[in-house]
Amino acid sequence: MRIGFGYDSHRLVEERKLVLGGVEIPAEMGLLGHSDADVLLHALCDAILGAIGEGDIGRHFPDSDLAYKDIPSRELLIRVKELADRKGYIVNNVDSTLVLERPRLKKYVPAMVANIADFLAVAPDRINVKASTNEGMGFTGRGEGVAAFAVVTMKSRDL
Ligand code: MG
Repeated sequence: MRIGFGYDSHRLVEERKLVLGGVEIPAEMGLLGHSDADVLLHALCDAILGAIGEGDIGRHFPDSDLAYKDIPSRELLIRVKELADRKGYIVNNVDSTLVLERPRLKKYVPAMVANIADFLAVAPDRINVKASTNEGMGFTGRGEGVAAFAVVTMKSRDL
């Protein structure tokens, strides 16, 4: 069994879509980034890469590479999952937390869970997504950005 941890944050700006966990969420502001800036899927990519000893998302999908401009982050996550497959590891379970003040995400969480389970080809009960505000403190509390944390356990296919 291996454990991986991932963290990411992106700035909230006008005239960008808010995509979290592969779900487009109606909002006045969206996340700025080279890809679709899906901060939750980026944190999850880093968690998986960490678990399998493969560095981080920036090493595999550099910002400087135009191939990744505006790419849906699910494509990045699926590629990371395929890398894990090639190294003989499968996802056991995921826990994650999004930190943002608004909009409230409760009603979108089941769709995020279903997406992530689908992208990683595991049962939805192995995926957990939580959303928290930051009580008005810091960059997330002021609505300047969104942060995400993810932990994953992976098991060797041989077990
Ligand atoms: Mg990112």
